[in-house]
Amino acid sequence: MSDCIFCRIAAGEIPADIIYEDEDIVAFRDINPQAPQHIQIIPKRHIETILDLTDDDITLTGRMVLVANKIAREAGIAERGYRLVFNCRRDAGQEVFHIHLHLLGGRRMNWPPG
Ligand code: 5GP
Ligand code: ZN
Repeated sequence: MSDCIFCRIAAGEIPADIIYEDEDIVAFRDINPQAPQHIQIIPKRHIETILDLTDDDITLTGRMVLVANKIAREAGIAERGYRLVFNCRRDAGQEVFHIHLHLLGGRRMNWPPG
């Protein structure tokens, strides 16, 4: 989708600090980080919300989690721990309607989340 900011990042049309890329997935630093490490892991394919996932996407979403783990290890936050978040729709505060897995780490997280 040409008007989707994350599709445009995946296509290289908008600059981003990309730290991982493969055939199906891109990961880049969040523009407004909420932790010392705040990275977005996205599929290259446009999927609006996690409610739109189907059985065909099980491997894709599993691989997104494994990419997050790999980045966490490389960033040196795996041992201490980190948080992975999918925001879905309004009550969760979803702002970008192209699914993205937030990887947050490098500080102690609060629970419950705000
Ligand atoms: P949401 O609230 O939809 O789960 O999170 C969207 C995230 O995308 C936010 O953390 C926001 O800072 C990030 N974001 C929005 N636009 C851009 C952008 O153009 N570039 C980057 N790197 N991050 C963005
Ligand atoms: Zn998109």
